[in-house]
Amino acid sequence: MNALPPCPKCNSEFTYEDGGLFICPECAHEWPAQAAAESGADSAKVYRDAVGNILQDGDTVTVIKDLKLKGSGGVVKVGTKVKNIRLVDSDHDIDCKIDGFGAMSLKSEFVKKV
Ligand SMILES: [Zn+2]
Repeated sequence: MNALPPCPKCNSEFTYEDGGLFICPECAHEWPAQAAAESGADSAKVYRDAVGNILQDGDTVTVIKDLKLKGSGGVVKVGTKVKNIRLVDSDHDIDCKIDGFGAMSLKSEFVKKV
């Protein structure tokens, strides 16, 4: 069994791989093997808030639970509004600035889009 994807042009299942390219013997279409391998996880990552709204760079959100800050001992209170978020691909997937606290990272599961 081979796990090569079918040809995106003619749907032929007889695709073969050669030098980093997938090649279709039926219509002679060639496309990069890497693109197929990567289409899925990272490039298409969707960020959602606590209730499932899709988040985008520049959105304004509110914090839905008190968040204790490591180090400073401060607490970002529930209901705190956070403007102009920036989405990043990490455990804390929102970079932002909060008035009175400065730059920090939040988890999307603890915010709600306004
Ligand atoms: Zn084809």
